[in-house]
Amino acid sequence: MSIVDLTAFELRERLRSGEISSRAATETYLERIRRHDKTIHAFLRVDEQHALRQADEIDARKKRGEKIGPLAGLPVAVKDILCTKGQPTTCGSRILENFVPPYDATVVTKLKMADAVLLGKTNLDEFAMGGSTENSAYGVTRNPWDVTRIPGGSSGGSAAAVAASMAPLAIGTDTGGSIRQPAALCGVTGLKPTYGRVSRFGLVAFASSLDQIGPFGRTARDVALLLEVIAGHDERDSTSVPKPVPEYSRTIGQPLSGLKLGVVKEHFAAGLDADVESAVREALRVYESLGAKLVDISMPVSKYAVATYYIIAPCEASSNLARYDGVHYGHRTDEKAMLERLKKDAAGGGEVDSPLVRLYRDSRAEGFGPEVKRRIMLGTYALSAGYYDAYYLKALKVRRLIRQDFDRAFSQCDLIAGPVTTSAAFKLGEKVDDPLAMYLVDLYTVSANLAGLAGISIPCGLSTGGLPIGLQLQARPFDEERLLRAAHMFQQATHWHTLRPKLAA
Ligand code: GLN
Repeated sequence: MSIVDLTAFELRERLRSGEISSRAATETYLERIRRHDKTIHAFLRVDEQHALRQADEIDARKKRGEKIGPLAGLPVAVKDILCTKGQPTTCGSRILENFVPPYDATVVTKLKMADAVLLGKTNLDEFAMGGSTENSAYGVTRNPWDVTRIPGGSSGGSAAAVAASMAPLAIGTDTGGSIRQPAALCGVTGLKPTYGRVSRFGLVAFASSLDQIGPFGRTARDVALLLEVIAGHDERDSTSVPKPVPEYSRTIGQPLSGLKLGVVKEHFAAGLDADVESAVREALRVYESLGAKLVDISMPVSKYAVATYYIIAPCEASSNLARYDGVHYGHRTDEKAMLERLKKDAAGGGEVDSPLVRLYRDSRAEGFGPEVKRRIMLGTYALSAGYYDAYYLKALKVRRLIRQDFDRAFSQCDLIAGPVTTSAAFKLGEKVDDPLAMYLVDLYTVSANLAGLAGISIPCGLSTGGLPIGLQLQARPFDEERLLRAAHMFQQATHWHTLRPKLAA
């Protein structure tokens, strides 16, 4: 069995026993990246020397009999929206093309402390705004199952890296589905933790009340292993919650008797592809055969979730992204050329900006891509005087109602089970000119972020075209343990998570 055929959990055991060195594991994955990433483009940056140095250090410490952290030299890929000290962090944006953070995100620090090897930084939609990884300023990522299709997004690079066996584990972020949706479309397992479970310190902010960092792996157990390393309170993020972190990967095998799975009526309405519906229904039958009870529930407010999300997320984004002004951070327009433009405008008569305002304007116009500009405009509009009450405040009220829908649902069931996406991966370019169609892709995922819940996507079938389909399980806040146990139980009974795409050599 080759190293890339092992799950992260299995590889960790072999790293611990000394059967495989971290150097060998790292070299194997780097070689896979060299071979396949020219086509897939999951990575924005791979620092081979840095990764190998880390691996050698861990191996040397192991040889000396020193204590090794829980990841024991496992390679991990990190979405390029988490700060890495001394290594560029672009967020998929031109505006941060030359940004090198002077510090590590807490999650990155925790990975290092746990003795993970950082393979590289993965591609994403610019500032995590998107669902297809087509909004990256550095080119698209392709779905390893069919390179003419999108991998999902915004953590498309992380999901594709795991799917193509270019990393055993990866870190993503989920503001409205960006871990669960690409996990579903790439046939891997991805978990969005409860808001507050993982520190956001050093995560470049998109929508601060929705953003969470979470793990990708092949199996629920792999994801559990990574979650227990990155979760926990952090005094540098006041929204992280001081609750103890369970040993998810250890408790994952404990049986779940009397599990009640809520099936939401509204999830199976018009718009859901037949392929996805039948795979999800079949998955529900598997759960029944394992002793779970299905409970029909209704979540009437869920139909407003996309509209609510696309007010709140852009509002927060427009405020968060105000910091990129070409002065404090990021790309700055060529000042000489800018002054020339200003002079020309002045000569033409009419009103002209002050040089400072023009500097901001031109730097931002050059640095941001079209989707980010659209969100900034949407958010600024919805927050402006006269519209604030009608849009932003209204959206906050609906957000509360969505949370109440979940509270009611969870009084009848332990977990909610349903689809992650309405269809399998679509073609590259298919929705780029239709933002509304792109936003509707988020139908089943955004409500967990609005309500602050935990959710996971696990592979549950293939479409007639041979593309992966995901099953979503959602849990009450801080009930990741049950979520992972239920996912593991499914993976013990099915083989979908073991399927790998065939990549051209
Ligand atoms: N697709 C959603 C959006 O475009 C979600 C993105 C995310 O979770 N980061 O905002």
